[in-house]
Parts: sequence; structure tokens; C-alpha cells
Amino acid sequence: MPQAPDLHGPGVVVIGGGPAGLMAAEAARAAGIEVDLFEAKPSVGRKFLIAGRGGLNLSHAEARPAFDRRYSRGGERVADWLDDFDGPALRDWARGLGIETFVGSSGRVFPSDLKAAPLLRAWVARLRAQGVRLHMRHRWTGFDAGGAISFDTPQGPRRLEAKAVVLALGGGSWPQLGSDGAWLPWLAARGVPVQALEASNCGFEHPWSEHLRQGFAGAPLKPVIAHWTAADGQPRQRQGECVLSEYGLEGSLLYAIGPDLREQLRREGRARLQLDLLPGSPVERVREALTQPRAGRSLSETLRRRLRLDGVKAALLRELLPAAVFADAVQLASAIKALPLTLRAARPIAEAISTAGGLALEGIDPRLAIRALPGWFACGEMLDWDAPTGGYLLTACFASGARAGRAAAAHVTASAGPNRSSSPCRT
Ligand SMILES: Cc1cc2nc3c(=O)[nH]c(=O)nc-3n(C[C@H](O)[C@H](O)[C@H](O)COP(=O)(O)OP(=O)(O)OC[C@H]3O[C@@H](n4cnc5c(N)ncnc54)[C@H](O)[C@@H]3O)c2cc1C
Repeated sequence: MPQAPDLHGPGVVVIGGGPAGLMAAEAARAAGIEVDLFEAKPSVGRKFLIAGRGGLNLSHAEARPAFDRRYSRGGERVADWLDDFDGPALRDWARGLGIETFVGSSGRVFPSDLKAAPLLRAWVARLRAQGVRLHMRHRWTGFDAGGAISFDTPQGPRRLEAKAVVLALGGGSWPQLGSDGAWLPWLAARGVPVQALEASNCGFEHPWSEHLRQGFAGAPLKPVIAHWTAADGQPRQRQGECVLSEYGLEGSLLYAIGPDLREQLRREGRARLQLDLLPGSPVERVREALTQPRAGRSLSETLRRRLRLDGVKAALLRELLPAAVFADAVQLASAIKALPLTLRAARPIAEAISTAGGLALEGIDPRLAIRALPGWFACGEMLDWDAPTGGYLLTACFASGARAGRAAAAHVTASAGPNRSSSPCRT
């Protein structure tokens, strides 16, 4: 295809139209700077819309600094972004779009209609009204042989001139929604430090028997307490819920302890944990229930009647324990309170809710300027921070987008003065 005319971004150019990029565009425009946003897909915010399927958990009501501690990687940097734009600021911002939010019983913050589409629609309409120019079907393809920024567009390949660029390309999960991590080698080749993407907020693999899979895949395991060894070598425990899946285990408990499990996998090729299947019952009570005379009842019936242990939990015991353990009440009680489980691998990135890795945080300054690329900024999930589900992901994307957009606008102002009257981006 012949080379189409060059693109020209007179102010701030944002590449990537997820929540981070849209927020960067809004912040730069609010500073009075021309903004052109380029998005590979035919529409913006596709992953944001998918997040809406689960109710759109925008943020969490947890107070800071406890909120900041949820970021298992990059916590200090994220906390700095949150100083400008935190959970309450995000709720105010949504209200400004006509979207009220509420705090659910777990402290998670949702829009009152639990939907992403009305928020995204109102936001995009407001951005357009503010003068942000959105260019769909423009896929950034890196740098051409002469070092110019290049795009694939319906009109053919095009080069871009820009004063300031904000990259908001997302991580690598659910690549069909647009974020595929293709940019890592392009930035690495320009001296930007990057880490390989890794699945986060994902399931973990365990080879179940056909019997367990067929009978119990999809069954929730709740509540349980996971005991595991953290990356610092210390024992940890956490109560929560997970789901037995075809391939292993998934769910919020696994997402929360995922960074430590991934670290074990990296170091040892496997991740070990123990599950307490009866969090409310001390081991002495479990032992007592199992040692009392059974009056002719089977062990399964005894477990069900005396300990309310049946269904998937009972099936898991049968799956994982040698037959001899069932003949020994003391051993069985211990196993019910600490059922050992060895996970083989994390699920693939494409299935994960988010990714860790990406642009290393030492490669950006506090304004989110990329040190190796003057005039370039980055925000959102493409940066190497990590957090569990619960609204922490989107909050950090919004906060970093706001910071990067403002900084890019300041860069344009400092280098050439405000550019309110320059000609718009030609497409
Ligand atoms: C199923 C699911 C449910 C989720 N639910 C929640 C939730 O409830 N709460 C929560 O906090 N988080 C949730 N998340 C995570 C959250 O959606 C992401 O963290 C967030 O969308 C990341 O925002 P971002 O702007 O950094 O990247 P993205 O949202 O991934 O946006 C990046 C954009 O850049 C575009 N792009 C990529 N490469 C190029 C290129 N080369 N040229 C041009 N454009 C490009 C992409 O097409 C995309 O539009 C969920 C994720 C998934 C998959």
C-alpha cells in the first residue's frame, strides 16, 4: 500500500484509548492543549466495557495508606499518582459524568447501574465536546527506518510528527480487545527498560482427575483459608473464595495471593499452598467430630453431618489425600485444616484479567516522562505495577493517565507555548 500523507499532532498525542489514555487526553485538554488520540481498534475502551460485564468495579473504598499497600509491585510510585487522583476523586469524577457510584458490601466501588457503557458513552461525548480528536483504526507500529513514529491506518502506513506523546497501550491480557504488548521490543530497542509481561489476576493449573472435573468444575470453594510462603520467605494466610475450574483453581483468593504463587513458580517451577477447608472450626473440634463413635454412619455422612463438609470440599479431600489418611481421624483432621496443593503453572496471559511487567518504573520519572525518550510519557497497565482485582487496577490507570496527560501538556507548553490556535491533526 502507498504511504499516505503524514499525520501531525500539534499538541499532545495520546496512543491508546483505554481508561488511562482517555484520562490522559482529558487532563491534557483541560490544560488548554490540542489533543489527538489514536486507537488501533474501531472504538475506544473495549476492555473497560468487558470489565463492565462483572459490574465495573471502579475503585475501592478502603482508606489510604491501606489502599496503597494493595499494589504488590510499584506501590510507592502508584501512591504518588494517587496523591493527585485517588478513589474518592474517581467517584467525584464519575459523578461529573452523571454516573453515581456506591460502595458494595466488600468495600468495592461500582457505578449504581453496574454498567460501563453509559459511563464510557458520556465520557467520550464529553471528550469530543471538549475538542479531543479521536482517530480510530490507527495502530501504532513503532518507529520506521528513519526513526519516525509510524501507524497502520485504513489509508495505509502513515508517519506522525508530535510534540508530546502519551503511550497508554495497556498490558497483554485479552489481546482481542486491542492490548497485545507488541510495543515492548519497540521501546526496548530505543533504550527504554522493559520487563516481560506476565499473567496477573489469573487462575493456576492443577491436573484434576476426570471424575473431579466432570463433577465439580465451576463449583465455588468458600470460605477457605489459604496458607502459603510469601516471596520474603514468611508464612502468610488469607481467607477468601475460589472456584475449582477445569484446569485448576481460579477466583479472587488466587488473584490476591497470585504474586507470591508466581514467585514460587519462577523459583521452584511449582507453587505450594495449603487450604483450610473449615475456617470456622479449630482442628481440635474437627478431630473430636471425627473420633466420636459414628453409630453406623459412613465417613462421608459423618463429615457432612458433623462438620458440614460435603460437595466440592469433600471431593477435593478424596482427590488429594491417600486412602490411608481416611482411616486415621487425627491425620484426616489435620488435612482438612491444611490440605496440601501443588500448582503447576499460571494460566496464559491471554486469559488473565491483567498483566504485570511492561515498562519498568525506573524508566519513567515522577511525571511519567519516559527517561530515554524526551517528550514521551506513559501510563496505565503498560507500566510495571501490579494489584489484585477490587478496583485497584482501574484506579491506578485513571490516576496515572491524569498525571501523564497533565505532564505532557506542560511539556508542550514549556517547549512551544500553549497551542490553542494551531491547525488540527490531519487524518
Ligand atoms: C475481563 C476483565 C475484567 C476486568 N474487570 C476489572 C474491574 O472490574 N476493575 C478493575 O479495576 N479492573 C478490571 N479489569 C482490568 C482493567 O480493565 C484494565 O486494567 C484497564 O482497562 C487497563 O487500562 P489501560 O488504559 O491501561 O489499557 P486498555 O484498557 O487495555 O487500553 C489500551 C488501549 O490501547 C490500544 N492499543 C494497544 N496497542 C495499540 C497500538 N499499537 N496502537 C494504537 N492503539 C493501541 C488498545 O486497543 C486499547 O484500546 C478487567 C480486565 C478484564 C480483562
